[in-house]
Amino acid sequence: MGDRRAAAEEREPAAEQLMVADAIRAAAATLAATSDTPRLDAELLMAHAMGVSRSDLLLRLVREPAPQGYSRLVERRAAHEPVAYITGEAEFWGLPFRVTPATLIPRADSETLIRAALALAPEAQRVLDLGTGTGALLLTYLAETRTTGVGIDASEGACAVASDNAARLGLSARAAILQRDWTRAGWRDDLGTFDLILCNPPYVEEGARLDPQVGDYEPASALFAGADGLDDYRLLIPELAMLMDASAAAILEIGAAQAEPVAALAGRVGFTTRLCRDLAGRPRALVLRR
Ligand code: GLN
Repeated sequence: MGDRRAAAEEREPAAEQLMVADAIRAAAATLAATSDTPRLDAELLMAHAMGVSRSDLLLRLVREPAPQGYSRLVERRAAHEPVAYITGEAEFWGLPFRVTPATLIPRADSETLIRAALALAPEAQRVLDLGTGTGALLLTYLAETRTTGVGIDASEGACAVASDNAARLGLSARAAILQRDWTRAGWRDDLGTFDLILCNPPYVEEGARLDPQVGDYEPASALFAGADGLDDYRLLIPELAMLMDASAAAILEIGAAQAEPVAALAGRVGFTTRLCRDLAGRPRALVLRR
């Protein structure tokens, strides 16, 4: 009899269980306090909890009972954890990328580099991605072309994620992922030369106040670059020429206020630069050429 009562109590919450549509609405209200995109977050977490795509969820499943684990996912998001780390996936340029806390989450702003690359080098022979992270820049460029390429990253965890993404996207045969640390001598010794270089280095000023979903969760090694955020450009820009064919272009992501200082670093070693803006009109990338 005791057993039967326990079983009934366990079932009880199920009887009061919300439908998917109601659970999403409640979650969106909760997340409005901490997220700029509460409704989208609530939907993505529900799709993840149910193991379906967001479109399937919204088209077919809103009247299903909400799954048990959903509220725990919403709590994590309410504590600022990024949706991409909860679901393990982020979309970039319409492609699905696996993401872990070892990598920065690919941002729509970085699609500026892909747009620039496809416009100015639609048929590069060999592309290098410096600080590849999830592999988003390298693999997106490869997916849009027939090029082969190399992605390097100092983080072993990031290299594992990038290799996994290459495999998932069917690009392993055209993408080599190598663990290299450009703060150490010899890092570029056997890489060869390239006609396109893509790079989203760390560029945030040490001690900058970041949104908690960035600062508390994303890897500091991928974000911070010294007191003025320029340390990695200082290291990399003088080395780029040795990695570039005569007519090659290097496209570097920059912070919105970094166009002038980074262009000056590039000018000092003989590059001309061109600024690319993101969809919000902010300076987002510099194209370097000899
Ligand atoms: N754009 C990122 C941010 O908003 C920084 C990325 C980087 O440092 N490469 O925090």
